Amino acid sequence: MSQTTITPEVRNKPILKQEIAFAVVHLIPLAAIWTGATLFDWVVCGVLYVVRMFWVTGGYHRYFAHKSYKTSRWFQFVIAFMAQTSAQKGALWWAAHHRHHQRHSDTPADQHSMKIYGFWYSHVGWIVGPDFKKTDFKTIGDFSKYPELVWLNKYHLVPPVLLAVAVTALGAIVNGGSITMMFTSAGLSTLFIGFFLSTVILYHGTFSINSIMHKFGKQRYDTGEESKNSLWLALLTLGEGWHNNHHYYETASRQGFFWWEIDITWYILKGLSTVGLIWDLKGVPNHIKFSKNKQHAIQLRKEQESKRQTEEQAA
Ligand SMILES: [Zn+2]
Ligand SMILES: [Zn+2]
Repeated sequence: MSQTTITPEVRNKPILKQEIAFAVVHLIPLAAIWTGATLFDWVVCGVLYVVRMFWVTGGYHRYFAHKSYKTSRWFQFVIAFMAQTSAQKGALWWAAHHRHHQRHSDTPADQHSMKIYGFWYSHVGWIVGPDFKKTDFKTIGDFSKYPELVWLNKYHLVPPVLLAVAVTALGAIVNGGSITMMFTSAGLSTLFIGFFLSTVILYHGTFSINSIMHKFGKQRYDTGEESKNSLWLALLTLGEGWHNNHHYYETASRQGFFWWEIDITWYILKGLSTVGLIWDLKGVPNHIKFSKNKQHAIQLRKEQESKRQTEEQAA
């Protein structure tokens, strides 16, 4: 039996002064020790986690990286803007890197292979390291032809900053009774817990797909790499936990392939298509769903076709 040796790429260590902002974002929620936190702040934290996780998975991932549905040019901008409120950089940066991961999953070229580079590097090391800071516009050429998306990709902090200001103003009104309370504990506690804490949890929810989902869980399909399926991670990430399904058939809008595989992003996308904001959602053909690997899928498709032909001849 031939044994192939894997030679990892050289990956550079983070330049600490470049990553201060990322570290500070993680520390800011602790400032609530001085401001306290109200029930409203915690509600905002929960809502912003869920809402923004939807735009991360339904926007960055299922639209920009995989084009698993279609939409209008104006709503495409809304999707990019909403996804970027997560402070996970520009939609073009995010999607180009993800396309690279899908193409090279668990090979040395994969920027966040847990198998090759370990848990911490796949979880957060590749993000804080200096090697993947730039947007590969060629890989995302189908979207980088839109100047408004290139602008938003460049000024990627505009959406999260606007959201942070809006959240602080809302906190001032609800906790303090007036918008003039923005720079008191009333507004700041909503900023620290509602905005920053949910942003940090959202980071690690998203990152867990790159790390944990290539290690723990079950593999239904033989994809030749390490992706897994996990119900609890699918619940936390609104459907992204069906990661082995996704690596097997990445073009589908849904990642839960069976009715019992809860995929909240898919349900919301169905809702958006019902009101006409998006369309042409891609499903999962039966020969994919019920196969074990790509060869088996081809065999199943042939069987289905010959069965259909026999039925047509009999009719
Ligand atoms: Zn993956
Ligand atoms: Zn993907």
